Amino acid sequence: MAGSTGTALVTGASAGIGTAFARQIAARGSGVILVARDRERLQALADDIASRHGVAVEVLVADLTDPAQLAAVEARLGDRARPVDLLVNNAGIGTFGRFCDLDVETETREIALNVVALVRLTHAALAPMVERGRGGVLNVSSLAGGQPTPANATYAATKAFVTSFTQSVHEELRGTGVHVTAVCPGFTRTEFQERAGFDSSKVPGFLWQTAEEVATGALAALDHNRAVYVPGTLNRVTAGFVSVLPDALTRRAAAFIVERSE
Ligand code: NAP
Repeated sequence: MAGSTGTALVTGASAGIGTAFARQIAARGSGVILVARDRERLQALADDIASRHGVAVEVLVADLTDPAQLAAVEARLGDRARPVDLLVNNAGIGTFGRFCDLDVETETREIALNVVALVRLTHAALAPMVERGRGGVLNVSSLAGGQPTPANATYAATKAFVTSFTQSVHEELRGTGVHVTAVCPGFTRTEFQERAGFDSSKVPGFLWQTAEEVATGALAALDHNRAVYVPGTLNRVTAGFVSVLPDALTRRAAAFIVERSE
């Protein structure tokens, strides 16, 4: 998609990393389809992007946890008369707290959004891309997917799914011309922590990245068809350590950090 003039569909475009993706993709000259629930925010972003970059912008309002609304987005991806060259599966939510104390309906919605919607949209996008012999899918996972994370149990498990699933599909599509990449950000300044009910005030400043940094690195990783990309040197070091340490140690360490930050 580098320098592309095609069309990209970005989920969760109304805020945070998704907005950064939409802006950067449009700056490359590609049209964008903006997906999220908040129509007003999407329309304001669409107007701004269209006036700055002169690209075609569509607004597609959808709650991706609603099967009928999700189906409408799948249909847009599968519309061969209006091909989509890049899918950014970015929409995601987190929950924070002891699993047995959390609302199980919210936990289930988290799985519906972070996993089910991502799988269905990837499936809808890939068939036409493989037929055309080009295209890309960028799945936003998380550093949290690299290990069991107490107080973040469902979220970490959904992101472990995303990283694993994306790597498998990446390998399946080797040689087809279709790029598939998982991006695993660490702490990124967006609305995410507040929406998840996580007080991030004790997280040291040096651990944070901006949404723009994450989006820039992720798009470059997709251009190079990397299977997995971890933005930020410190995050890459953390991911490297976690991958070689036993789970028993990393989950205890994660629990210790959570207890200390409460
Ligand atoms: P954010 O600022 O809270 O944005 C989340 C986006 O998802 C919003 O545009 C929101 O829009 C959309 N969304 C939420 N529920 C939705 C639903 N049911 N249907 C459709 N869209 C929905 O969070 P962010 O940090 O940019 O998160 C983007 C991705 O990065 C997520 O997958 C997250 O897991 C991942 N990530 C974030 C961090 C971090 O520290 N921020 C770290 C690692 C990974 P509406 O409310 O308008 O629907």
